[in-house]
Amino acid sequence: MKVKFWGVRGSIPTPGKDTVRYGGNTACIELDAEDGTIVIFESGTGIRMVGQKLAGMSPVEVHLFLSHTHWDHIHGFPFFIPAYIPKNVINIYGPPHFDKSLREIMAQQMVYSYFPVNADELQARINYFDLKEETVSIAGLKVRSKLVNHPVTCFAYRVTEGSKSVVYTGDNEPYYNFMASAAMDEAETAEIAMIVQEQNDRNVEFVRDCDLLIADAQYKHSEYPSKIGWGHSSNLQVVDMSIKANVKHLVMFHHEPTRTDAQIDEIVEETRKYCEETGHTGLKITAAAEGEEIVIV
Ligand SMILES: [Zn+2]
Ligand SMILES: [Zn+2]
Repeated sequence: MKVKFWGVRGSIPTPGKDTVRYGGNTACIELDAEDGTIVIFESGTGIRMVGQKLAGMSPVEVHLFLSHTHWDHIHGFPFFIPAYIPKNVINIYGPPHFDKSLREIMAQQMVYSYFPVNADELQARINYFDLKEETVSIAGLKVRSKLVNHPVTCFAYRVTEGSKSVVYTGDNEPYYNFMASAAMDEAETAEIAMIVQEQNDRNVEFVRDCDLLIADAQYKHSEYPSKIGWGHSSNLQVVDMSIKANVKHLVMFHHEPTRTDAQIDEIVEETRKYCEETGHTGLKITAAAEGEEIVIV
């Protein structure tokens, strides 16, 4: 499998001189399987460039997995050229909302109030798949979905081809006791702590032994206390999960929009230092950069 990062930023695009190296496009990751299957995670603004690459390869079939439908994960889709080319097939997988299908959610950003082309006018065959926690088989790939903690229904995905696995967490904050400030007796507090622990243990098992973990690490450890409940993880939270799960390579992703290239370098350094100090030197740690390719062999 080969992974390429086309957009690594969270929340909003951040062009400018301070983000040139890591990049300013919002979330988009391409995963090319050995058998030629094309998987794309997220359709942030990075997907525009994937579309330019694929435009010359028609007819083409792609499998687009959305962790969730917050704006920074879908706002590049109207600019995805392959969706406008007849004979192309675009399979879109992701979570529905309580009252809306994935198709309805995606169509809402392509109405004339917001965009000159209506979703019904796309020329490619667009297939929508409302997911729950399940495993999807695509040729030689297995893609497993797992619910994670975010302010809207959100999935992590684990892609397996042969003996190799890649996990992408989507936007994700570790589970915690959000009722902690409410009046609770000791027994209730202990019970909630146990449930929280079980949920976080399930995340670790989902990630276990993967070759590559692409993880939402939007915040620095020192920032996290003021961001609890915002739905994102800190660098040290994802490194702790990686250590517990025996991950080989952790790629920190969904960079905070205010973060400069130099500040991302500092976070990588802080994270590596934490690993050294705790005796976990086997884990490779990098920060996702636009244009970067990682081959999993
Ligand atoms: Zn996001
Ligand atoms: Zn989100």
